[in-house]
Amino acid sequence: MRFEISKVLDAIEGRVCTDPQLVRAVIDLAEIIRYQDLDGGRPASTLRLGMVIDALARSLEEDSVPVYAVVHRGVLSDADLTSNERMVVRRWADDGLVEVLDNPGDRMLEVADLLGLPVLSRVRFDGLRGRFPWLVEQPGRALAPVPGAGGPVFIAHVGGGHTPVPGPPSPAAAKLLAREWRCPESGCNLFGGGGGGGAFADLARVDRAPTGQPPPSLRGGVPTCPRHGTRLRDVGPRPRSEVLAVRVGGLIRRRFVLTEEQPVTVGRAPDGSNGIMLGQWLNDEARRWISRSHLRFELRGADVVATDVSTNGSGIRPAGSMAEADRIPLPPQQSRVLGAGDMVELYPGVQIARPGDLPAGAPYNPDSVMSEAPTMAMRLPR
Ligand SMILES: [Zn+2]
Repeated sequence: MRFEISKVLDAIEGRVCTDPQLVRAVIDLAEIIRYQDLDGGRPASTLRLGMVIDALARSLEEDSVPVYAVVHRGVLSDADLTSNERMVVRRWADDGLVEVLDNPGDRMLEVADLLGLPVLSRVRFDGLRGRFPWLVEQPGRALAPVPGAGGPVFIAHVGGGHTPVPGPPSPAAAKLLAREWRCPESGCNLFGGGGGGGAFADLARVDRAPTGQPPPSLRGGVPTCPRHGTRLRDVGPRPRSEVLAVRVGGLIRRRFVLTEEQPVTVGRAPDGSNGIMLGQWLNDEARRWISRSHLRFELRGADVVATDVSTNGSGIRPAGSMAEADRIPLPPQQSRVLGAGDMVELYPGVQIARPGDLPAGAPYNPDSVMSEAPTMAMRLPR
């Protein structure tokens, strides 16, 4: 069981981050780990975070959806967690994967406000509805995770809906997120120069790709470090980036960020920490066809360039057209700029495009290319 929990915590680790481009909801970790009614287990358990993230994935009909976790630093010494869980949460904090604060206040709502994200919380925020009117005006923006058949489900605080729905980001966000910020505190794991530098930094075992900075806190209109309360320094424009998504068998499996400094290779099992591995989602035939490294994506200026590095080649579906006559071959070693609406196809049913160009509701045919692997990323022990 101990080993099982470690595996689940590893899986959850890939679902928490503070990258504004990837996160899909905002949560309070300290609150969620105490939802004892989800499993009837210990007073606090980090596995409940996994259950809520899984519920979010089911609800959004997309795999691997990361959440933005804001949490009081008391959780790092919460005696109701196991020592292993405390160590893992400290590592997340040191790596800047979760935002650990001495006084979270209404930071969770601020992040949701800036990024236009839903909050998943049982707190009703009655006193804050004036400052954050979307809590009332957009029912899909504030939902309570509650026990349901087959795992947690969501109930909107207002209006009674069940699906988390993003809203428009706040007007302040565009300006904040266009710049790169530095905290004057040395080793700041949210707005430092190069990742986490805390006491547990050496425990970080994954070479993670640099992620986008979290949104600064706005205090009196001044961009501020939410952890240290210090004024942030503007160090220039944020590097240009683009989000792409992988769809296999009709379901988006994961999104990834492309920057000019960081090309991304996608394939059956690409080398290097920054590759996107598809193997676990593919059946034998697709696995034979798709090379270990199949496609390389680069951002050159505003252009997304796809280069085939495979044995068998790829294809481009202009404007997402599924008609065979429209499919443009992308032979091995050739490159092409991804036009608006274009989709790159590695194999029938295995596609990469900007997420908006991979609309939900596409025919979901798990048998076509899917392996026997579970549809959703995490299977929690019951
Ligand atoms: Zn700081």
